[in-house]
Amino acid sequence: MASQVISLSAIGRVTSVDEMKARMPAGGCGASSAKGQTSCGSSQGQGDMPPEVWEKVKDHPCYSEEAHHYFARMHVAVAPACNIQCNYCNRKYDCANESRPGVVSEKLTPEQAARKVVAVASEVPQLSVLGIAGPGDALANPQKTFRTFELVAEALPHIKLCLSTNGLALPDHVDTIARYNVDHVTVTLNAVDPDVGAEIYPWIFYNHRRWKGRDAAEILLERQMKGLEMLTAAGILVKVNSVMIPGINDEHLKLVNAEVKKRGAFLHNVMPLISDPAHGTHFGLTGQRGPNPAELKSLQDALDGGAKLMKHCRQCRADAVGLLGEDRGAEFTLDKIPEMPVFDPAKREAYVALVEQEREDRRKASEQAQAEVADLAGESLLVAVATKGGGRINQHFGHAREFQVYEVDARGARFVGHRRADNYCQGGYGEEDKLEEVIAALEGVAAVMVAKIGDCPKARLEEAGIEAVEDYAFDWIETSAMAWYAGKMADLNHVDARTA
Ligand code: SF4
Repeated sequence: MASQVISLSAIGRVTSVDEMKARMPAGGCGASSAKGQTSCGSSQGQGDMPPEVWEKVKDHPCYSEEAHHYFARMHVAVAPACNIQCNYCNRKYDCANESRPGVVSEKLTPEQAARKVVAVASEVPQLSVLGIAGPGDALANPQKTFRTFELVAEALPHIKLCLSTNGLALPDHVDTIARYNVDHVTVTLNAVDPDVGAEIYPWIFYNHRRWKGRDAAEILLERQMKGLEMLTAAGILVKVNSVMIPGINDEHLKLVNAEVKKRGAFLHNVMPLISDPAHGTHFGLTGQRGPNPAELKSLQDALDGGAKLMKHCRQCRADAVGLLGEDRGAEFTLDKIPEMPVFDPAKREAYVALVEQEREDRRKASEQAQAEVADLAGESLLVAVATKGGGRINQHFGHAREFQVYEVDARGARFVGHRRADNYCQGGYGEEDKLEEVIAALEGVAAVMVAKIGDCPKARLEEAGIEAVEDYAFDWIETSAMAWYAGKMADLNHVDARTA
């Protein structure tokens, strides 16, 4: 399939609607996966859920896998205190280049946070969600959290409000959450058995005292479950985050998935433990490892059929800004934003209309691409994609800091996760050791689809058994992956026929 023109290729940087239109194709040639084809439940479409639920998720980059190609979120760090200790967390450690929950460079008051949200909204038309995710716990700082929501709702009523919590204080705040129109709540829940929980939580602070060990875990788990039930009863969408910790809760997460499904969670997001001694966390210092991509995928596959899975989480910083996978936070520190930023709704409305058109074109082309692979017989293959957003293959191999990974077979192309790697091209030059890191990160992947790649990295990838594919530059990701797969299967059949 020939490549077609760029659309929304620089989605993270568009500054005017004219610029956005100039980047649109005359007509779509590619498509996303067919409706319902992706395994991430959050990628369901309009016809798969009640209209009021669709309205809540369709532009939410975390609750809809499709939306994450087009819409951005931001976190504001107004919640410094926490009421529990997790063995994977150390909020004291900060590195501006690091993406990891609990990490921030600048803590804000609610007034500063609201100013920052308006400043970002006026520059980033993709912004659709404000989340409060720490750096401590949103509900261990309820006054700051809800005051921020109040100020932002007044200034920007179109922005969806989210919060993340460990759940300990959740049952006390569900009424307030509903009153402030917070439609999306994330509860981090790593266990449903206190014996497992005790290996993850050394202590909690509850009812004016510190609890330790199994008692602490028992209280926490009970409060989490109660809060989850109260939220779903109130019609609030709940995403449950679970950190996968090999040897501690990896097998147990199957039970967690079943329990949260029973209680009406909208999504279950199983995230790999991030563990490094440099972070100073208990797990980092004791050598507890995180899962590798194959282990994570294997667990996600085993959970198929349970609570719907989110697979596109980027484990963002508590002050992240931008599309998932990019962080523009450094552009919007307090010293760089105006005292009284002004939001222009027209720019945002034009962007949303443009995205609607793009989505429609992708859906139509998706059906066509799907039909072309439906009868193919062959094993599933993984392809990695370099993208800056917009659902297109629109990034140079050397600039990619992460690759989105799709599984392709006769059922279509399904998003299955992402692989992080330091970009190969540093200051205009390819770094050999970085290339080896990228190749290691792409383990198990059959092809990497990019807008462009140099001859050297292309040859090295091919030596490592990974095909570098430039033929679909600027096309839609899933359609291109399916077209590549169809070509691959045709080649294999051809070889088989000649050797038969
Ligand atoms: S941490 Fe995951 S769920 Fe939260 S904003 Fe980032 S991608 Fe979305």
